[in-house]
Amino acid sequence: MQNFSFHMHTVGFDGKNSEEEMLVKAKEFGLKQIGFSNHFIVYPGIEKTNMYTYAVKGGYESIYSSDFDEAISKFAPHYKKIDELNKNYDIKIYKGMEVDFFASDEWYKGIERALSVLKPDYIIGSAHFVEHNGTLYNSHDLKNSPPCEQNMLVHRYWQNVRAAADSKMFDFVAHLDLIKKVGLGREDIWAEDERKTIETIKNSGIMVEINTSHFNFDEKEPYPSKRIMKMLAEYDIPVLLSDDAHKKENVTAGFAKAEEIARECGIKNFGNPLERKRNSLFTRLSKDIENIF
Ligand SMILES: [Zn+2]
Ligand SMILES: [Zn+2]
Repeated sequence: MQNFSFHMHTVGFDGKNSEEEMLVKAKEFGLKQIGFSNHFIVYPGIEKTNMYTYAVKGGYESIYSSDFDEAISKFAPHYKKIDELNKNYDIKIYKGMEVDFFASDEWYKGIERALSVLKPDYIIGSAHFVEHNGTLYNSHDLKNSPPCEQNMLVHRYWQNVRAAADSKMFDFVAHLDLIKKVGLGREDIWAEDERKTIETIKNSGIMVEINTSHFNFDEKEPYPSKRIMKMLAEYDIPVLLSDDAHKKENVTAGFAKAEEIARECGIKNFGNPLERKRNSLFTRLSKDIENIF
């Protein structure tokens, strides 16, 4: 079974356990490498959105930032802690982040600066939101939107995922069909959007995760769906397993079952995103930085 896990969250963001507690658990499960990938979500005025009120109620509003300096200041001490842990434990711990991609010049400038300051080892591309007419919708807002808007928003969701993949900035894409969580995007009419997305991912050369969180929610399949997994196999896109663990009990949870389903769908190309020839924005950025100094 896969002996690494690169999609994990910790306390201080929206995880329940500390970095140490997570890594002790990972060692127990025999993992050789782990990576923490807390949320890096920057959107001006995010505290005024509908979903922010729920985040405050749930106590996880710290994952959202209104500007890049705020997000950088949350990550800097967390990354420093990982550097310290790497000195004291014989398991390799990588510095990751789960980034929500927003297609604007401001965002690009901000993320470039954040990556050059924080120097993460890898970045995960995620689409937790759909932006429409200046409103930010999360998947629950999507579910609650009027039926006449819903299809348009789901279509927008897939466009976002494609834009993120097309940026070539990420090492892998998280939970491709996250909207499945609220029961959206399951019908066959979405297969075309999914295929276009898989083609974009293929062209960008990034990996896709098979995410085992909410495995029990659906009981039949992880993210992405079997329909998408068959396309991943068809295009021979490399995949990895992710537990998306927000607490130590979930480290590697569902890996065996997810791998079995993936293989049933024809997936053979399993890989480690940190052992591939890198093609991330950070690598390009660090080259620029080397040229400057
Ligand atoms: Zn996520
Ligand atoms: Zn996550």
